[in-house]
Parts: sequence; structure tokens; C-alpha cells
Amino acid sequence: MAPPPAPRAAIPPPPPVPDVLQEITITEGVTIKELSEKMDRKAKDIITRLIGRGILSTINQPLDITMAREVCRELGFDARVISFEEEVSLEQTKEAQPGDLRPRDPVVTIMGHVDHGKTSLLDAIRESNIAAGEAGGITQHIGAYHIRRTERGITFIDTPGHEAFTMMRARGARVTDIVVLVVAADDGVMPQTIEAVHHARAAGVPMVVAINKMDKPGANLDRVKKQLSDQGLLVEDWGGDVVAVPISAKQKKGIPELLEMILLVADIGELKADPSSLASGVVLDARLDRSRGPVATVLVQRGTLRIGDPFIAGAIHGKVRAMFDDLGHRARAAGPSIPVEVLGLEGVPEAGNPFQVLEDEWKVRQIGAFRQQKLRQEAMAKSSRLTLDHLYQQIKEGMVKELPLVVKADVQGSVEALSKSLNDLPSDKVKIRTIHAGSGAITETDVHLASASNAIIIGYNVRPERSAQELAEKEKVDIRLHSVIYDITNEIKNAMLGLLDPEAKEVYLGRADVRQVFKVPKIGAVAGCYVSDGKITRSAEVRLLRDNVVVYTGKVASLRRFKDDASEVKSGYECGIGLANYNDVKVGDVIEAFRVEKVAVKNL
Ligand code: GDP
Ligand code: MG
Repeated sequence: MAPPPAPRAAIPPPPPVPDVLQEITITEGVTIKELSEKMDRKAKDIITRLIGRGILSTINQPLDITMAREVCRELGFDARVISFEEEVSLEQTKEAQPGDLRPRDPVVTIMGHVDHGKTSLLDAIRESNIAAGEAGGITQHIGAYHIRRTERGITFIDTPGHEAFTMMRARGARVTDIVVLVVAADDGVMPQTIEAVHHARAAGVPMVVAINKMDKPGANLDRVKKQLSDQGLLVEDWGGDVVAVPISAKQKKGIPELLEMILLVADIGELKADPSSLASGVVLDARLDRSRGPVATVLVQRGTLRIGDPFIAGAIHGKVRAMFDDLGHRARAAGPSIPVEVLGLEGVPEAGNPFQVLEDEWKVRQIGAFRQQKLRQEAMAKSSRLTLDHLYQQIKEGMVKELPLVVKADVQGSVEALSKSLNDLPSDKVKIRTIHAGSGAITETDVHLASASNAIIIGYNVRPERSAQELAEKEKVDIRLHSVIYDITNEIKNAMLGLLDPEAKEVYLGRADVRQVFKVPKIGAVAGCYVSDGKITRSAEVRLLRDNVVVYTGKVASLRRFKDDASEVKSGYECGIGLANYNDVKVGDVIEAFRVEKVAVKNL
């Protein structure tokens, strides 16, 4: 039985909202207690107004932000919502004295084309041997190192590729003060060099160019300078303002000069921070260590981080249990621009998350719990996505009135044919609404669109691009792929009626790239392939894709490793594949293997 309604009569009607509202800032997860302090009102006043909205809340419980803003308005306040970290930062700025600011060391990111010597340069700087011991020569995770010069230090961040740099920026983390652009003197400016320049420019970060591999016979300093000027980077001895230093990471030549130049460029920036405040910074990297639990590499940006400090990092809270510097030594404190490994987190935060120390442990718990809850809600929203498997159930529960579709087909002609067939479907149960229809492969943009509109993607003789497939899995977007129009309309019709089970489901096996085509007398065309993902089996069904458009569907006729027949070939190996009754295979095509399975879909 429903509880009796709250005694509304006892609550006075809200007074008219005052003309001039006083401005305050509130944060996500604000409590009644905090609101009352901010507005200098009794908590009782706020509780009364919430009860008027049918909400019973204790004084320390986080409030819904829209609700909190409404209550503030009624009481004469315009509440601006800021993140919790912004609030702490605002308070600290208010309390800070001008004399508290002290110069801090620059934070440097090394970028450049692959194999131009980023790792070797860091290595030369640290004089340890990372490049030789690194798996496959690829920088594996974000490491950060602090080195000391005579009086000053420099912090280096080893970013694996430019994505990490820009990902951090996208999350609002400004980490880097200076970019060192490594260009190999024998190879010159390459695509990733240009990309790095664009990333650094977009971030507004000054660059110092290290022209590496000067020891190599093919080194050509002037050519590199010319190529740099083509990118709008005019070096100093050509009359520009870009600092370029010729070096050899291998022979450890030019390194002191490069470090001097970095400090010189840093001086122009007048980098300062207050080491006396509560520490804040950014999570550079985090992982779950088997024996030590969650470990985060944190760059302190202001204040000083100490053992025992309670902190919040994104949705994860914790209390510093132990800290280690870049050499693995235990540290007791870390000031501005210092990277440290931190132990004592309650979970693994994301790289790029802000990191903020607070005085009260209960407060970090509260914020952590609030953010966790929000994450769970977002995940729930994703899991309630529209899927054909559950369409009938969702219609029955009245959750679905229309079925939004994103339609992709191999050619424009089939787009039109398909759209027409879809429009002709009965609409008494749900109305079909095509929000986008086009030809070509299913792209990330299509998935974004479907995700934002809770739509299902229909592919006719096309496949999703790899990145689109991954995004769809992450966003839980339903993609339905077919090569017969009737199958598509039939599937949707059945889904509407709840007749989709049992259903034949396709199980993806793997992909192979066609690198060569051999014409074998009497047999026909055999595709010389490289298996790029999963595996190809002799019994598999296959689809031949050209630019993610299906040009053939059928079976494997022959599968060979060298001269021998094979039952399956795994990713990373080469093989010869013959397709049953199809000879028009071309270099650059992709063979996708799959298996068809019957699965019972439960109407939950
Ligand atoms: P990264 O991909 O930019 O990190 O490049 P690495 O530091 O892994 O270097 C790629 C290759 O170039 C390695 O084989 C290095 O030994 C070599 N290398 C790096 N710096 C120099 C240099 O100054 N001179 C020469 N001759 N080789 C270098
Ligand atoms: Mg490297």
C-alpha cells in the first residue's frame, strides 16, 4: 500500500522570488548543511522547502543539483554550479597571499615521429637505459621523471603518442609547460612531427626543437630547418624565435645545451605555484598492482602532497599511504611539478583525472560516493538502450513509441529501396523513424548519432569500420547487418511482435587482409592473406569486404599455410584463402570470417 501523502497543508507557499538574486557557487553533491552555510540561512528553512517538493533529506545527504538551484532561487540566491575541484581552487586563491607563490620547475613532454629518438633522449637525460629494455621499443606507459640541474629541476613526461597528450587536455588537464619536439636529422619532418606541432599549438604550449641523430652520416641540419620553417617554425639562426638544438641521444651529445634551452624558455613563462596550500594536480597514469593495490602516478601542480593526506581523484577517493619518487625511493612529501607514485587509493582513477587533497576525510568519501553513484546512473542509462532483442518487451512496457534507425547501405540505390521498405512496415505498434540514411561503411559518426538518439543501426551489405565497432560495443549501440532487404524488414517486424527467438546469431571469428592474389590453374584465384585479427577457419563462412562494403558472401573453399592445408590460421600469420565460387578478389580486400549460431533470446 502506498504511504499516506505528506501533510502539505502545514507548508507555507513559496514566497515570490526576489528581483535581485545574490550569486553563490555550489558544487555537485552539495548538502543541506553546506547550502545553509553558503546562504547563511537556517538548515530548517531549506528542509521545509524540500519537504514542500516531497523530498525528505538528512542534513548531510547530497542533493539533486537542479533541486538545490531551485531552492536557492526561492531564497534569493543564484547558484552557479562548479566542480568540486574548482571550488577548492577558488577558496585557496582567495586565501593565498601574493608572497606565497614560488617559482616551480617546468613540466616537459617529449613528442615527435616514431623512432626519431624520444625514448633515447629521455634515456640520455636520465642516463639510465630504458630504450634497450623496453618491450618492442614502444613506450609502454606514462612515466614521469624529475631531474635536477644545478639549482633548478625539470620534470619530463614520457607520453605514449600524441593522443595521450590531447586526451589529457580534453579532460581539462593542463599538464605540459613546454613541448620538446624530437626530429631525426637524417629523416626530417614526418607526419607525426607535424601532428605533434599541431597538438602543441592547439594547446598553446611553447616548443623547443631537438634535432636528433646528428651523429648519423645522413644527418642534414639545414634540410630539417627548412622543413620546420615550412611548418611555420622559424629557427633562431634563420631569424625566427624557435629554439632548435642539434643533439645525439645515442652519443649523449648536446644534452646539457638542450636542458639549458628548456630552462631558458621556462623562464619566459615565469612558472609559479604555492607550495604551502593543500596539494592538487593531475593523475598521469593509474593501474592495479597485484601486490600493492591501486597505484597512481600523480603530477603535483600546486601545494605539497604528504603522507596521510585524504584526496579525491575523479570518482576515486583515498588517503596517501605511501609515495615513491621516479627512482622508486620512498618520499615523504612532493611539491609543485613533482611526479610521484601514490598508494592508498580505493580504486583505479582515469588518466587525466584531477587530483585534489582535502582536509576532511569524510568529505572525500562523500564526493567519491556521489560521483560513483553518478557513474552508475550513466551506465544504467546505457544499459536501457533500445535493442531489437528487447524491443517487444520495451513496447509492452510502454517504454518505446517509436523506433529510430540509422540506415547504411552499399550504394545509394539500395539506401532508397531499403528506406522505402522500412517505411512500408506496419506502424501500429511503433513508428519507424529513419534519422539518417546514407551509403558506405558504418562510421564512428553513425554510432555517435545512434547513441545520442537511442537508435539502432541497420547495415545493408556494409560493415562497421573497426573504430565504429569498438565504439558501438562501448556505447551498447545495437548494429544489425544483413545482405537481404527482406531479412531486415522481417527482423524488425518480428522484433515488434516479440517473435525474435530463437534467433540465429552471427559469431565473428576474425579478419584477414588480402596482400596478393595468385591465379592458380584449375582452381581459380587464391588470396595471399595476413590474418590481422582473431582467426580464419576452414569451415567458416566468409564475407569479402572492399572498403567495408560486402562484395561477396559464401564459404571458404581452401585454406593453406605454405603448401599445407590448415584447419585454422591465427592472427599474425600468413595464409592462402580460396573463396567458393568467387575469383574476383583484389589486393586490399578484407576477408571476414564468421560462424552462425542459434541462440535463444529471452524476452526478459
Ligand atoms: P622513439 O620511437 O622516438 O622513442 O625512438 P627511440 O628512442 O626508440 O629510438 C629509435 C631508434 O633510433 C633506436 O634504434 C635508437 O637507438 C636510435 N637512435 C635514437 N637516437 C639516436 C641518435 O642520436 N643517433 C643514432 N645513430 N641513433 C639514435
Ligand atoms: Mg619510444
